[in-house]
Amino acid sequence: MSEIVGVVGAGTMGSGIAQVCASSGFQVVMCDVSDEQLKKGIDAVSKSLDRFVKKGVVNETEKSEILDRIRTSRNLKDMKQAFIVIEAATEDLQVKKQIFEGLDSIVSDDCIFASNTSSISITKLAAATKRPEKFIGMHFFNPVPVMKLVEVIRGVATSDETFARVKNLSEKLGKVPIECNDSPGFVSNRILMPMINEAIYALYEGVATREAIDEIMKLGMNHPMGPLTLADFIGLDVCLAILNVLYEGLGDPKYRPCPLLKKYVDAGWLGRKTGRGFYEYQN
Ligand code: NAD
Repeated sequence: MSEIVGVVGAGTMGSGIAQVCASSGFQVVMCDVSDEQLKKGIDAVSKSLDRFVKKGVVNETEKSEILDRIRTSRNLKDMKQAFIVIEAATEDLQVKKQIFEGLDSIVSDDCIFASNTSSISITKLAAATKRPEKFIGMHFFNPVPVMKLVEVIRGVATSDETFARVKNLSEKLGKVPIECNDSPGFVSNRILMPMINEAIYALYEGVATREAIDEIMKLGMNHPMGPLTLADFIGLDVCLAILNVLYEGLGDPKYRPCPLLKKYVDAGWLGRKTGRGFYEYQN
């Protein structure tokens, strides 16, 4: 029987991670607290695979084989035989801690714990487990089946063996693992979020319109989308949460979230997912 990967969370990221693992031949157990989310997660995998079928990357038979390799469950005990559990649950320290504490007594001592957190300290999460040396950050990017990068984050106690096993797994998944140390925002968000924040400040101070700011960054810097469009895509609440982690964690005022970002989050204008952020969306 092929090796089993546990994926906790069946949302945007969890379903994408389950898809790439199953596409690489692993058996996957995807757990969530919500049946509805599990169903949505499988639907998302199926739709994503349809796009790959259209492009000729996989055929219909392969698509159903991939889907067959993903088992859904509401019980973490079904991950008992996993050699790694990749956690992609809600970005909340307590939620994640509880998941890992529960898993500690379910899986084998050899099992690796990986978190897909965007901003929570890997060292802190690892400390909540009995296996800090087998704990690591595996930061995938959205959409997971398309984006090549996995930022692999070493907590203070992560062993070389754990890092090597996760690097190897990432490569098997067709990804490019890049190593960094645990620090607020890791590398990706430490550089991306201040740029997005600065774009919001430029809008806030009336330096240019939203369209002009985005076009300047697209055409001038060759970015595929402008920073305000990207912020809407990521979710303004997520951007604000990460900026707060940078601001508090690094203690430098240069990371202070723009008041306009806070105002939009207070208004419930969270970007694409709520139909309004810096732009308005129909669906
Ligand atoms: P999401 O809201 O789409 O999905 C989170 C899922 O976790 C939900 O289905 C929820 O029901 C489930 N969940 C909550 N508590 C749970 C529990 N105790 N056990 C099992 N499942 C539980 O969120 P997402 O965008 O997929 O983000 C998940 C993680 O990935 C977060 O840590 C986030 O920071 C990180 N991340 C997100 C992105 C992104 O672009 N969305 C990119 C990189 C990393």
